[in-house]
Amino acid sequence: MSAVEIVTIGDELLLGFTIDTNGAWLARQLGELGIPVTRRGSVGDERAAMTSAVQDALDRTGAVITTGGLGPTADDVTKPAMAALFGRDLYFDEAQWEHIRTLWRTRRGTEPPEVNRQQVMLPVGCHVLVNRHGTAPGIWLEDERGRWVAMLPGVPREMRGIYTEELRPRLASRTGAAGHPIRSTTIRTTGIAESALPERLGEAARGVLGLSLAYLPGQEGVDLRLTARGIPGDVADERLRDAARLIVERVGTPVYAAGATDLAEVVLELCRSRGMTLAVAESCTGGMLGERLTAVAGSSDVFLGGVISYSNEVKERLLDVDAAVLRAHGAVSLEVARGMAAGARHRTGATAGIGITGIAGPGGGSPEKPVGTVCIAVDIAGQEPVAIRSQMIGDRAEIRFRATQAALDMVRRQLDPLR
Ligand code: AMP
Ligand code: MG
Repeated sequence: MSAVEIVTIGDELLLGFTIDTNGAWLARQLGELGIPVTRRGSVGDERAAMTSAVQDALDRTGAVITTGGLGPTADDVTKPAMAALFGRDLYFDEAQWEHIRTLWRTRRGTEPPEVNRQQVMLPVGCHVLVNRHGTAPGIWLEDERGRWVAMLPGVPREMRGIYTEELRPRLASRTGAAGHPIRSTTIRTTGIAESALPERLGEAARGVLGLSLAYLPGQEGVDLRLTARGIPGDVADERLRDAARLIVERVGTPVYAAGATDLAEVVLELCRSRGMTLAVAESCTGGMLGERLTAVAGSSDVFLGGVISYSNEVKERLLDVDAAVLRAHGAVSLEVARGMAAGARHRTGATAGIGITGIAGPGGGSPEKPVGTVCIAVDIAGQEPVAIRSQMIGDRAEIRFRATQAALDMVRRQLDPLR
């Protein structure tokens, strides 16, 4: 089979109350099998809508996985809809009914309610995908031209169980050696705009060595994801390695990690390898930087601690920030950030101190210092202290997170100037 489409079913998906994790999970699983997903969509619990969605997918691709609508209640109409689409009647499956009765007796000690009988009304000629995790059987329905739909329940735990135990082996045997697993590598960058990356990448901006390149901007920066499709595993691995090396070279300093590594981990490792220790003084981030550092296992040999100096008084008393400096420049200023970084360093005896002060909003901004203004200083023993003022975008949560990311990146760039 060359490709599959996924149709997830349920009003809750359209209303946005339930996030379509089934579709995402299935797409990743199929990728591992080397089966491309060419389209994913969601429809409500309405018979006409799911029929036309699956009909269209069958016309395009001939292979469809659905989730949802296999339950015992009136809103669960996937099965009759698909049976009608394939021109099949429904029959009462005695064996599946026995399976459900056994499940009820062992789990609840009672007979199942009559409505459960609806779950074993199956399309004639279907293949049952046994559900060992719940009552709704999965169903494989195929026509004489080899076009098929595999129906899985909506409950994620049951859906995953049936996929892994029943559907995956079936798909794997059909795919044979033709399917190459989809593989990818992520290169993480920060402190560079998405639109500035293609310039640095040159002709590799649209991909390289037959690999596609995706730009994934987020609060942490822009992740660059290289993906190999339809390439044998060992060749793919080699190309991913070579392409990643090329991209790291072209992009330069903004690259801080590969894979899923957090910047805090990178900074801790840089400090560790230089025998350095770290302390923080946080105002607008309220301890978020300390949290990110301590979230990394083994951080205690580098991270000494910090001060959440939200008020001016604490900045003065615990970090020795000069009252006159606070008065002259205001709490959100390069001067105060420098004072906080120095205070964190000296009070804890760390090799390096970080100071963050800013206006996270939504209130408290002014024309000179609008919401999002953040001043960050890094004070490392034996180096000239550095301080920056930047304008963070987003809401309060985003401004605070971006401030911690920028602070960590300043330390990284200070310690690794040769990159
Ligand atoms: P259903 O099989 O349609 O009765 O779905 C049962 C439950 O599974 C729903 O109430 C949702 O909580 C969950 N569910 C259904 N579809 C999805 C989906 N695509 N992604 C994640 N959860 C889902
Ligand atoms: Mg449902």
